[in-house]
Amino acid sequence: MHKVKLIISTILLVFFASVVTAETTVIHAGTLLSVPGENPLSKQSLIVKNGAIHEIRKGYVQIEGSRHIDLSCCFVLPGLIDLHVHLTTPVKAGGSLRVVTETSADLALTAARFARMTLDAGFTTVLDLGTGRRQHEEAIYALRKATREHRLPGPRIIAVGSPISPSGHSRTGLYRSDVEKIVGPEGVCNGVDDCRRAVREQVKRGADAINFYNTGSLLDEYLVEQTFTDEEMLAIVETAHALGRKVIADGHTARGVNAALRAGADIVDTVPWPDAETWKLLKKSDAYFSPHLYAFEVSLGDTEESLRSGTTHWLPEPILRRLLSVKENPYSAEAAYKHGVKIAFGSDTGVIEHGDNAGEFAELLKVGLTSEQALITATINAASAIGLQNQIGQLSTGFAADIIAVSGNPLNHIEELSNVIFVMRDGVVYKSPE
Ligand SMILES: [Zn+2]
Repeated sequence: MHKVKLIISTILLVFFASVVTAETTVIHAGTLLSVPGENPLSKQSLIVKNGAIHEIRKGYVQIEGSRHIDLSCCFVLPGLIDLHVHLTTPVKAGGSLRVVTETSADLALTAARFARMTLDAGFTTVLDLGTGRRQHEEAIYALRKATREHRLPGPRIIAVGSPISPSGHSRTGLYRSDVEKIVGPEGVCNGVDDCRRAVREQVKRGADAINFYNTGSLLDEYLVEQTFTDEEMLAIVETAHALGRKVIADGHTARGVNAALRAGADIVDTVPWPDAETWKLLKKSDAYFSPHLYAFEVSLGDTEESLRSGTTHWLPEPILRRLLSVKENPYSAEAAYKHGVKIAFGSDTGVIEHGDNAGEFAELLKVGLTSEQALITATINAASAIGLQNQIGQLSTGFAADIIAVSGNPLNHIEELSNVIFVMRDGVVYKSPE
């Protein structure tokens, strides 16, 4: 009997040991930048267990029974974070008919393809800012679950579901009133109580964060400078925060942006026309600014001619002119940087091609950021802006094993980030140079 017990416990021990070691991966990094903002170190070993960073050791260590990945040729850094994507949206002229023709299954399949392209580009976490359609919500939540469980390749998806807007300002309100009744934009609310309801409803359906439109759209004929009242914005932000959700305010003009910041928004997105108070409020509130410059560059170009050949060439003339004027200010991001405002990375894929997210880095350099600062916007800052500063954005013990590698040093040449050769998310390898 004693002998049987011994055999069983020996078998269990061997089994347990094999489970532990099977989950251990050792990455030999030629150069390792574990925390953007600190100095990179050469010849390091990253030890990954159970999807997280377990330890970092000097030199190339060998651990018996572990899987070893040779990235001694490469520059290894944390996976990138993009706080502005639309995974169900292809870059396509017009497309308003999609709202009444596509099912949630269509959108999920489209988004699955774009999620893979995004992950391949080294973006291991994205914030999907939604489209205001129930079919989108269903698709994005299904994809979020599938990627989380590694059933499909894709980044960690943080989703807002549908953005919150007041009547007349949803981004899907493009239709004749009888058609709009059928299309029914999601997340519409009016008045303080109704806006609390709208936030709760989004969270109940699965929103990780709340996005609301604080001004009219850049594509509206008449751009409303503030959509929700101050009280409605406060109700949205307070309800979201009480439910543990960060709040993104997507808008353009100072009045609406400043009101959102006073209400306590955590991230202000786009903001081509701020004023002096915007910068003061941003600094005082500790909020982040996410400008997405590359999307303007790609869709508009620099001249009147390029405006008519870009991805938004189908828009009416006065709106195209307004879009061009965004770039003539100069960019608000330049002033934001000079004022010491914290910038978080967002690319607006869907307007630009999915997988082309890293194009934003070069634009950030044009407004004054160094390569290191630009990298920080897509790691440390983006993680902190969305409240995941203890989980992603750096490769320290206990953080997610979201690891990428490039051939050269991106601190010298930021373009290196456009050619990611290795991607691991939560300890699972999705792209490898071998
Ligand atoms: Zn967008």
